[in-house]
Amino acid sequence: MKRISVREFGGPEVLKIEEADDPRPESGQVVVRIRAAGVNPADTYMRSGAYGSRNPALPFTPGSDGAGIVHAVGPDVSGLKVGDRVYTCGTLSGSYAEMALCQRSQLQKLPDKVTFPEGAAIFVPYVTAYRALFQLACAETAATVLIHGASGGVGIAAIQMARRAGLRIMATAGTAGGLELIREEGADICLDHHSPDYRQAILEATSGKGVDVILEMLANVNLGHDLELLAEGGRVIVIGSRGPVEIVPRNLMSRNASIIGMLLWNTPPAALAAAIAEVNKRLVGGTIRPRVRAEIPLANAPEAHRLVMEPGAGGKIVLIP
Ligand code: NAP
Repeated sequence: MKRISVREFGGPEVLKIEEADDPRPESGQVVVRIRAAGVNPADTYMRSGAYGSRNPALPFTPGSDGAGIVHAVGPDVSGLKVGDRVYTCGTLSGSYAEMALCQRSQLQKLPDKVTFPEGAAIFVPYVTAYRALFQLACAETAATVLIHGASGGVGIAAIQMARRAGLRIMATAGTAGGLELIREEGADICLDHHSPDYRQAILEATSGKGVDVILEMLANVNLGHDLELLAEGGRVIVIGSRGPVEIVPRNLMSRNASIIGMLLWNTPPAALAAAIAEVNKRLVGGTIRPRVRAEIPLANAPEAHRLVMEPGAGGKIVLIP
């Protein structure tokens, strides 16, 4: 089979396509013939060696998200058979490949109406958005949410789930295309995070009260200002951050507000299983639908890694083996 391999940390050019033996499943394992692999910003942090204790050992094949068809099943696997359509919630061997070795517990059935590229856009974006909104921000007790960086994979997932939960949604994007997309997805108030007055617009839209929940995709730029946009008892969930930031703690103290950080990989197993089950329920029910922005051949993985880090998000980038 063909796979992408990283043999040294570095720029997108270290993603090399190579031939490898097909994986063989051991007890409790399944081999999936990958039809689409999802590209996440975290894949680029791992590729460049910038992900601290989450850096994989070299060499490795990137990718936690993918969708495809069960190709082989090891002993002691129940509930899946060769030919089943599945999507991955993590893998053992990496999803940027024609085949991926997975634990049975890392696989979910893919509903017939969901395409493979859409299936490759489920795990990291939707489970992150679900955990942030419902397990950490307790959004069912909130009236308003600001999705700060709503045009990307996590943001679109958050809009779809917040809309179903009946929240009033304020959402930001940085391009005309991104703003159009978040409007189509159902955000009530769409704002450009590069505009000088978008924060004022949020305060005006809430009659000066502020928002109950903020999902923050770029905390190193926005966290200090976020604290001025929170309502009494408000909470910011830090999902993305690419550097340090200064905050004024008094803005938290005066609002009884809180900042909660999250990393999907650190989610306790029971909470992760519950979040995946909730995402599945919504997928089967048709209230969520991943948006795929670009399908790129597996061999062009370096192009996909450049694209995912450029401004102008608009849904998921997937690799097609
Ligand atoms: P993505 O698809 O690349 O989207 C990035 C988003 O950030 C876009 O909506 C982009 O908007 C927005 N953005 C750019 N500049 C911004 C600014 N100044 N203020 C607010 N938003 C801004 O990435 P993603 O998959 O949605 O992930 C978003 C972030 O969360 C990434 O940093 C990722 O590493 C992180 N993440 C963390 C976890 C976790 O477990 N904590 C899980 C998944 C993702 P425009 O391009 O329209 O400007």
